Amino acid sequence: MGKQLISIFFIFSLLYQGILFAEKSAPEVRQITPPKLDSLHLGKRILCHRPMREGTPRMSIGHEGGKLIAHNYGFGGSGWTLGPGAAQYVVNLLSDEMKKMSLTQSEPIAVVGAGVLGLFSALDLVTKGFKNVTIYAEAFENLTSHNAGGLLAPVSMSNVPKVQPLIDRIGVEAYRFYKSVIEGKHIFLKDGVRLVPTYFENRKDSGLEPYVTAGVMKPAKNVILDFGNGTKRSMVAYDDGIFMNTANLMQDLHNILKGKVKFIKRKITSLNEITQNVIINCTGKGAGQLVNDSKMVSVQGHLIMLKDQNPKDIDYMLLVYFDKAKTKAGFNVERSFYIFPKQLLGSKPVDIGVIGGTFIEGAGASTPNEEEFGIMVQGAKDFYGIK
Ligand SMILES: Cc1cc2nc3c(=O)[nH]c(=O)nc-3n(C[C@H](O)[C@H](O)[C@H](O)COP(=O)(O)OP(=O)(O)OC[C@H]3O[C@@H](n4cnc5c(N)ncnc54)[C@H](O)[C@@H]3O)c2cc1C
Repeated sequence: MGKQLISIFFIFSLLYQGILFAEKSAPEVRQITPPKLDSLHLGKRILCHRPMREGTPRMSIGHEGGKLIAHNYGFGGSGWTLGPGAAQYVVNLLSDEMKKMSLTQSEPIAVVGAGVLGLFSALDLVTKGFKNVTIYAEAFENLTSHNAGGLLAPVSMSNVPKVQPLIDRIGVEAYRFYKSVIEGKHIFLKDGVRLVPTYFENRKDSGLEPYVTAGVMKPAKNVILDFGNGTKRSMVAYDDGIFMNTANLMQDLHNILKGKVKFIKRKITSLNEITQNVIINCTGKGAGQLVNDSKMVSVQGHLIMLKDQNPKDIDYMLLVYFDKAKTKAGFNVERSFYIFPKQLLGSKPVDIGVIGGTFIEGAGASTPNEEEFGIMVQGAKDFYGIK
């Protein structure tokens, strides 16, 4: 009898521990109210192009035509994610070489391009004490850098495995930079960056696991998103994801640099026409033509701004991938759905949110693949289970 009692007690204790374990390991359920996606709540449509370089972005220095030239372009869909880290990396290469050449920090330096890569490169030069920096650009407004969605994740690039460790290192530095902005350690750039939960279907899709390994991000959690309409999705959540409000940040960067660097609006057709002997080339897509880089590809993306939303309903970021397909015009398209709490400059608090997206290699402004906007909205509705 005694033995029987002990066995029953043992079985119950195992069952109890099993229940406790199941409770502990059951994914957390998070309630999310889907955004309003009917036509009344869809705003500006944006078509823009990622400056992608096959194999790896170009972050290098060399001596060309009697000038010291650094290159910093080709970041595809991750220019904001990597920008501050890439700028530090390239400016370090440049300043080491300048020291070897006995050039001082008063040496005139030209930065060509005023997108996120150009502005962060100029900012890093100024921060490191360079005194004579000029930014040349064909355009300063309405660039891909203003339109970008704002997710910090090293995705939508085409890197060969060999360069990935460097990309990860730069990405981790960029994460540290943005985190320090959030913590108020930079007096500028106050309103453009914040931490928000960021959801992916799995850890690999996020590209963020190296950030966790490096100890700058916390491990992702398994969660279930419950949209309150019968649709639930299993996702992974990085609760310390970083959202960059790109249009605001572009304005902040300009304001920081005003008075510290010269801005000259001009299209450059050859780096030889620039008077400065030290140059950082940050021309993005333009580098294809400017320096004859045949690895540069334009990758089209479609975005739709949302309006009249409840800002609390869009206080997260999410990215899921759909199948590869062909557009009507015959381009290969990798479709995905993403949503970020992006705002256009000067917009009302309720005009918040952007949805994307497409990844169409080789399509330019003359082949807008317009129908993709409608396909994207349908993909978003299907994801949330909106009838
Ligand atoms: C739909 C979409 C969504 C995106 N979302 C994200 C995101 O969520 N997160 C992220 O990290 N990234 C995102 N990106 C990617 C990001 O926008 C780019 O990687 C980044 O903006 C590239 O910056 P850039 O400075 O290289 O180029 P650009 O912003 O294109 O700037 C290039 C500059 O060079 C100048 N220029 C070019 N040629 C010449 C010339 N010959 N003479 C003089 N000036 C010249 C231009 O006038 C411009 O000033 C997205 C991109 C797209 C298209």
